[in-house]
Amino acid sequence: MNDTIERLFQKALHARQNAYAPYSGFTVGAAVLSETGAIYAGTNIEEAAYICTHAEQSAISQMITSEGPHKINAVMVVAGEPSDGMLVTPCGHCRQWLREHNNDPQTLIVYAAGPEGIRRSWTLEELLPHSFGPQNLNKHL
Ligand SMILES: [Zn+2]
Repeated sequence: MNDTIERLFQKALHARQNAYAPYSGFTVGAAVLSETGAIYAGTNIEEAAYICTHAEQSAISQMITSEGPHKINAVMVVAGEPSDGMLVTPCGHCRQWLREHNNDPQTLIVYAAGPEGIRRSWTLEELLPHSFGPQNLNKHL
């Protein structure tokens, strides 16, 4: 994998170590690559009422907090155990969050990784075909 994708993986892997998942025990790390080249990481955060923040949402929140909204070119999601082969992709809600920050879902690459490395990748268009986006509300962000 190239240097940028390796950094994206390492940031997501590190963020996962800080997951707060006392209820599910399911820890996730995510990192998004902004069009500026910056990488923002996040992890899942649970609470007793089970209204949780997902790792992808945490990463996008970090981007907006740090540099404002920008196009996202890639997202890395790290979950599972080494060699369990599980493919953890962004949930439907997180796919919509990603869609909000890329008006051409064919250009946003979604990587599913385990602790040992990348397992598979897709475009956001493949995971969220015929998506609803800002242009459906006559917004061209
Ligand atoms: Zn999610």
